[in-house]
Amino acid sequence: MKKFDYMEKHGYEQLVFFYDKTTGLRGITCVHNTTLGPALGGTRLWNYDNEEDATLDVLRLARGMTYKAAAAGLNLGGGKTVLIGDADKVKSEAYFRALGRYVQTLNGRYITAEDINTATKDMDFVNMETDHVVGLAGKSGNPSPKTAKGAFHGIRASLMEKYGSDDMRDKTFMVQGAGQTGDYLIGYLLEAGAKKVYFSEINDKHIKKINEKYPDVEFVKPDDVYGLKVDVYAPCALGASINDDTIDQLQCAIVAGTANNVLSDEAKHGQMLKDKDILYAPDFVINAGGLINVYHEIKGYNEVAALRDIEKIYDRLMDIYKIAKEDDIHTQEAAKRFAKRRIEIINKMRANYVKR
Ligand code: NAD
Repeated sequence: MKKFDYMEKHGYEQLVFFYDKTTGLRGITCVHNTTLGPALGGTRLWNYDNEEDATLDVLRLARGMTYKAAAAGLNLGGGKTVLIGDADKVKSEAYFRALGRYVQTLNGRYITAEDINTATKDMDFVNMETDHVVGLAGKSGNPSPKTAKGAFHGIRASLMEKYGSDDMRDKTFMVQGAGQTGDYLIGYLLEAGAKKVYFSEINDKHIKKINEKYPDVEFVKPDDVYGLKVDVYAPCALGASINDDTIDQLQCAIVAGTANNVLSDEAKHGQMLKDKDILYAPDFVINAGGLINVYHEIKGYNEVAALRDIEKIYDRLMDIYKIAKEDDIHTQEAAKRFAKRRIEIINKMRANYVKR
């Protein structure tokens, strides 16, 4: 790939390759945009087929983080690290300390955290070599309940937009995936008095867990999810659940959940949902609760303050829905406009000289 052309096209700032000769660590850090603040994004460890795939992944993920942080109202930019390797073989104290040393060389322009195949205990090793790491044990804790809480507020906002009321007592919900976030989301919906909650799962242990915990929550077979007539379909499993095969089956009024990259093709399926009059809560806005929570670690963690900021997802989605209506565009596009506008306006606002 022509890296500089790609960086120029999408406004990237920095792409750093690093190799540690002692541990064999091979990694790439990408800083997409730091207009709003330091670039934050987790470290993903993955056995990529080749360097090209790893590079494209880190570029794509870092850019996604810029929009996510901007739309969440955080003073953060977008960044990401990918490590190329087999998670079952490469992990060690020295491996992650070596990563920490490379993170430190960026001098706070980039802050890392856990992601796929990296965990809190790995970040403890990273933290031995750099201060620029969040998601540490004993601080903001597991992000999943906070991500689910943010999605819950986002669902409330979506109900308000669609029906003029965010009361859940006469509404029905389908939660797809009862893992770390789906399980909490089901709990929050029930607490709010949801009329009926369905769930779907492919993992028998998780099916058993939900059946025991919430006997009134009804299991639906994975293939029957899309055709179920409910008010809200909440994707909380894998990405790309809205695709060419599923979109025609949808019987819901709203798509709003915790999953990343819900739309298989953003432009195409975003528009198709709009055409079907199904309200789509943009994934990177509604699932930002975990990011907002971890952001508070940088400022000195305070759960009450974090939860207050997570609740703001409600108002942010209402603003995005307004843009979508005014500009007659689909909501995913509106969310990107919303994020870009914030970056542009804060950039302009800072143009005058202030002595510090
Ligand atoms: P998880 O792995 O804990 O849970 C996902 C669950 O979905 C699993 O129990 C899995 O068995 C189930 N599943 C997989 N395919 C399914 C299918 N076809 N039908 C029904 N169930 C299926 O993951 P999670 O942490 O809850 O994350 C869920 C989604 O939310 C992911 O897309 C993730 O990227 C996104 N997300 C999570 C967080 C977080 O804080 N955990 C933050 C932002 C975004």
